[in-house]
Amino acid sequence: MESIFDEMRRYVAFGEEDEQALRLFAPLAVPHFGTIVDEFYRRILEHEDARRVLTDQAQVARLKISLQSWLSLLVSGPWDAEYHQNRARVGRTHARISLPQRYVLGSMNVIRLSLLSIAAAELDAIDQRRVAVAIDKIVDLELAIMLETATDGLLGRVKELETAERDVLVQRLKLSEARYHEFVETGEALVVTWEPGGRIAQLNGRCEELMGISHGDANDKTWSELFGGEPARFVARERDLLAGTGTPVVETIVLDRAEQEHRIRWHHTIFHEPERTIICAIGLDVTAEHLLGVRTRRAERLASLGTMAAGLAHEVRNPLNAAHLQLKLVERHLSRPVPEIASALDAAALADTHVERLAALVTEFLDFGRPHALRMTRRDLRGTVEAIVALLHPEAAAAGVDLATELGMDPVVLSYDDEKIKQVVLNLTRNALEATPAGGEVRVRVSTRGNAAVLEVTDTGPGLSTPDAPLFEPFYTTKETGTGLGLPIVYRIVTDHEGVVDVQSRPGRTVFSVALPLDDGARRSGGRSS
Ligand code: ADP
Ligand code: MG
Repeated sequence: MESIFDEMRRYVAFGEEDEQALRLFAPLAVPHFGTIVDEFYRRILEHEDARRVLTDQAQVARLKISLQSWLSLLVSGPWDAEYHQNRARVGRTHARISLPQRYVLGSMNVIRLSLLSIAAAELDAIDQRRVAVAIDKIVDLELAIMLETATDGLLGRVKELETAERDVLVQRLKLSEARYHEFVETGEALVVTWEPGGRIAQLNGRCEELMGISHGDANDKTWSELFGGEPARFVARERDLLAGTGTPVVETIVLDRAEQEHRIRWHHTIFHEPERTIICAIGLDVTAEHLLGVRTRRAERLASLGTMAAGLAHEVRNPLNAAHLQLKLVERHLSRPVPEIASALDAAALADTHVERLAALVTEFLDFGRPHALRMTRRDLRGTVEAIVALLHPEAAAAGVDLATELGMDPVVLSYDDEKIKQVVLNLTRNALEATPAGGEVRVRVSTRGNAAVLEVTDTGPGLSTPDAPLFEPFYTTKETGTGLGLPIVYRIVTDHEGVVDVQSRPGRTVFSVALPLDDGARRSGGRSS
């Protein structure tokens, strides 16, 4: 096969004849080389940039010697493969020091003209023509080799840089992978990913540890199979998350391998990739925090008992004094020479109402103060609401208030203490009826919102007397015969259920709302002590 050098030679038509001409020329030219080289570097050093680089005299001397031998080889050959190698090395050196190619062209022309003028001076007309042609060809060949290797050299450097850059990227990737591994695998958080409607795709070391399973076991399982809880509820949660309507934070109860309960608070993130969607749940074990909350609530209750006792003493004294006075009157009426039976009966009846009020107070107080364990059962909240509202219809009718429920079509099933929640519905609805003038209306609604069941009691009454009234504190009442214990009892029961009570009020519209957590996860049936 023809080598690249041979091809180049063919291209400039450098042949036997030219080699002969150069060999004839060589002995005549060599004595002039010292002058050519001096002239060459004189011209180069006229340039600012070159002077700045070539400051070292010894270096310039070395370069002059190499240029002399380069010229000797140029005119004396042999112009073979080794010649090509030698010349290519020069080109690569130029590339390495990033010599601009315009200088290569310029300086090769200096050489060409110098050689031609030597030929003109030393040869007769015929030989001079032959030699001039050969000089032109060999200098062109040199240029071709130089430019070619310089370009190759540049490409080589670009490739080197690319490789170096790729190495850096690979290094960075490795580092970030290592970091990712450290964060995800050795952190405290549980990490689980899956595609919507799909099975668990990934879970981290902390999950495996807690659940006592391996990655392989988890693959191919659904969330509910792995962490417990109702599949239907999980599906609903996933749907809400994807629609952006659900709360991204959900707490579930997870049983570990030793059947111990853990309360896990999951934060959800959705990643939309071009080909698929991935849901990522990051869970934190909040069991300890939760227990602390339960203990704090218990402590709060004990603390409020002192205030309660003082309040109660005050509340009891009034009706007790009033009843005592009425009984004194009864005594006086009956001990008259002619006993005044009618007056005695009136006084006795009054005493009775005060005693009744006392009895009511004591009952409500006991309800409030006694720390009952909740008797949790799973049922439809709508049934509980319906039962109480039906009970209150006669009261509403007597007051001329339109009382109705709005319960929706879907069951709202959760675990709660039926008796206690009945009390909540009763207290809130009765307050609403008491606040609403004849012709107004009271609505009792049940719905779900995110991970909560919501009960709302709305009335068209005048609203709260003051916006910051201490509604939920014992004995706050604006009613003549009120006890001020209805709302504190509501508050107590709802917080025992880990729910939230809220009120919004303006003249003409007051809404008391209660949110109860929809249970999720492997919560065991049976009571939760409070
Ligand atoms: P009571 O009903 O015995 O007064 P509650 O604790 O049930 O005690 O209520 C405390 C107070 O909160 C009431 O006296 C009243 O001032 C206010 N309140 C409760 N519900 C409503 C309502 N729907 N509209 C206006 N005010 C209300
Ligand atoms: Mg009340």
